[in-house]
Amino acid sequence: MEKSKQQDGHEISSEEHLRHPLFLNALQSIEEGGKIIKADPNIVARLKRPKRCIIVSVPVRMDDYNVKVFSGYRVQYNSTLGPYKGGVRYHQDVCLGEVVGLAALMMIKNSVMGLPYGGGKGGISVDPTKLSRTEKQNMTRRYTSEIGPFIGPNKDIPAPDVGTDPQTMAWMMDTYSQEQGYTQSGVVTGKPVEIGGSLGRNGATGLGAVYVTERTYEKIGKSMKGATFAIQGFGNVGSHAALYAFERGAKVVSVSDVNGGIFNGDGLNIKELIEFVKTNKTVVGFPKSQKISNEELLFLDVDTLMPCALEAVIDTHNVDKIKARMIVEGANGPVTNDATKILHSKGVLIVPDVIANGGGVVVSYFEWVQDSMSFFWDEDEVNNRLKSIIVKAFDKAYLMAKEKNVDMRQAAMAVSVDRLQKAMLLRGLYPR
Ligand code: GLU
Repeated sequence: MEKSKQQDGHEISSEEHLRHPLFLNALQSIEEGGKIIKADPNIVARLKRPKRCIIVSVPVRMDDYNVKVFSGYRVQYNSTLGPYKGGVRYHQDVCLGEVVGLAALMMIKNSVMGLPYGGGKGGISVDPTKLSRTEKQNMTRRYTSEIGPFIGPNKDIPAPDVGTDPQTMAWMMDTYSQEQGYTQSGVVTGKPVEIGGSLGRNGATGLGAVYVTERTYEKIGKSMKGATFAIQGFGNVGSHAALYAFERGAKVVSVSDVNGGIFNGDGLNIKELIEFVKTNKTVVGFPKSQKISNEELLFLDVDTLMPCALEAVIDTHNVDKIKARMIVEGANGPVTNDATKILHSKGVLIVPDVIANGGGVVVSYFEWVQDSMSFFWDEDEVNNRLKSIIVKAFDKAYLMAKEKNVDMRQAAMAVSVDRLQKAMLLRGLYPR
């Protein structure tokens, strides 16, 4: 295997999955975070590699009776702070490298959020919109069975991500439980409430992003009320973020989904839009709005831009066209590191994904705790606890950014690496 020397003197493999752009971005962030806190280079070297990568074949009987074999992945990045934790993504662009990158982001996120979890992520390379419900169920069950020996409530706890939802988690929980011989609801989070899910989990990522946005406005001495928002992506994260921002008086002038975007300078009525999407399956065509492209949405002159779709939508190629004054990353990795630096130098405030979209995994944590006690909280308790955890994480990073004169992404990384380092030094290296 080819090896090359990194600046810090540690060897890094040139294996393809360790060179995915999303992972390289995460590695750069880990290094930068480490530098800020003057971390031990041995610790940083360990944080730059996934602990375990699992690749599985997922044969599925399709509706036409033919069998299709999909590639599935589960990456267990780090378990210093607790069991692996992170979502499962169904998307045609999923590959091992992307899952490694997303798993690294989960490690960073769980650490900065102060949760007792390591980082993990899973996925299947598939376009789920092309599958029937039966095909999706068969694929989910076989994938769960294949990764079954490696997951469990105390080992690795999957959750929803792009292309998966509470129903997917219900099938995963059922498959795992059937194979174990008894119900183990804590094996996944993001389940429907009827089978051990938590109230508030479904909207938690969007709500957390809005709590963080509100806090950011407070810090800069402004109000979110009346501020203009553009939100890219109208899936679980984007639609909830739009709704909660709208309910708090923000003027959401533009949203988009895979089919394109819509714009109304006076603000869109998000409650009506959600009803519209239920029947029409897209935001496009919503009355009293004009159609724009997904790209155009990114370049709107708004107070807050929330990219809530996929990674790397803002990079050095289009960063000059960004006019928003604040960017809150609802998706994982939507703004590349290089673009972040350019925007930061222009005074754009970027709230990084590992804090902005941390609401999902925080309420996943609550769900896991509730499952283990078989004692369930009401929604207000969930939301209040979410607010206090996510605001605390934001404040910690904000303080670090001010103290060290760095951007919020670097600050969040520093907070995260610091916590991981302390735990790793206490645990030591096995065998020695
Ligand atoms: N997929 C979500 C994320 O990227 C949630 C993960 C979880 O709840 O474990 O943060």
